Amino acid sequence: MERKRILTGDRPTGKLHLGHYVGSLANRVRLQDEYECFFIIADLHTLTTKPEKENIEQLSENVHSAVLDYLSVGIDPKKSVIYLQSAVPEVTELALFFQNLITVPRLSRVPSLKEMAQNAHIEEMPFGLLGYPVLQAADILLPRAHLVPVGKDNEAHVEVTREIARRFNYLYGETFPIPEAMISEFGSLAGTDGNAKMSKSLNNAIFLSDDEKTVIKRVMSMYTDPKRIRADIPGTVEGNPVFIYHDAFNPNKAEIEDLKARYRAGKVGDIEVKEKLARALNTFLDPIRERRAYYESQKGLVEEILYEGTMRMREEARQTLSLAKKAMGMSSVWNRISRKAEERQKKAASGQVGE
Ligand code: ATP
Ligand code: MG
Repeated sequence: MERKRILTGDRPTGKLHLGHYVGSLANRVRLQDEYECFFIIADLHTLTTKPEKENIEQLSENVHSAVLDYLSVGIDPKKSVIYLQSAVPEVTELALFFQNLITVPRLSRVPSLKEMAQNAHIEEMPFGLLGYPVLQAADILLPRAHLVPVGKDNEAHVEVTREIARRFNYLYGETFPIPEAMISEFGSLAGTDGNAKMSKSLNNAIFLSDDEKTVIKRVMSMYTDPKRIRADIPGTVEGNPVFIYHDAFNPNKAEIEDLKARYRAGKVGDIEVKEKLARALNTFLDPIRERRAYYESQKGLVEEILYEGTMRMREEARQTLSLAKKAMGMSSVWNRISRKAEERQKKAASGQVGE
């Protein structure tokens, strides 16, 4: 039986961090045996909030770093397709068809779009940003994906995709599967500063590409229980980022339980808790670093992997677009015209034209 398909990915806006790992990358690595996975580097989507030339100039580097992050965490290019959105032009054509299947008021109610505009200090909603979920629908339906693993913040976008797919199928006949969102159970990983979300823009992230020393430095300056100014004051474990990270990344559950018990009793210093965390994080990151070093040592390999994946996706895209156009009856318009033109040219070539 054919494997079901997944589409998910990222906008290439910079290095990926531990939040991305628990929120999405871990799932992707886990799912790539069971599903045929398509991982999109969504560079066109960056233009919705950052269309300026300076941003575009950074894309090549960001795309390279995103692919390298994927490969480092264990996304296997032999099993999964990693591709560049802007190099698959069919996506824009499909998005254009989809734009007619959803209303402006419906898109205006997608909460994340207003948030994105606010974060980017955009006062009035650009057409492209309003259409963000429509372009995403084209991303998802181009490989005819069944499952879309995303963060909670993206759930509403997948709902737009489902509505568009249903509307398309209703108007033109069964063409697309109705994809399901798969929301990561983890929720949001806190930042090193205690903020509810680790984010590179908040400068509270530990990156997958950080070296051992950097990790130690970031962990030793982490936010913990602010009421605990001395080691002998009982502390709070719940919501404390140091323990959130222990739970997420330290496989030694007995060590965590011991640290928590002593922390609650005021019998352990922050330093010990943090040193053990830094060790656990570095142990977690070591195999990721090893894979990164391998891919970095093979010059041009990252580009080759992205190139091959993009070619593979293009083939898929051509098939889907042809299916969609056939269903819509759009292909027959041009087919009729080109057939007549070709007939005339053939006749001319054999000297029969001239009435
Ligand atoms: P950053 O916020 O670091 O700048 P970004 O803006 O590139 O990253 P977001 O759009 O915030 O990325 O998130 C993309 C996806 O990554 C989210 O849907 C979510 O699944 C995941 N993600 C990002 N940060 C976190 C986090 N701290 N915890 C869990 N998941 C996260
Ligand atoms: Mg963000």
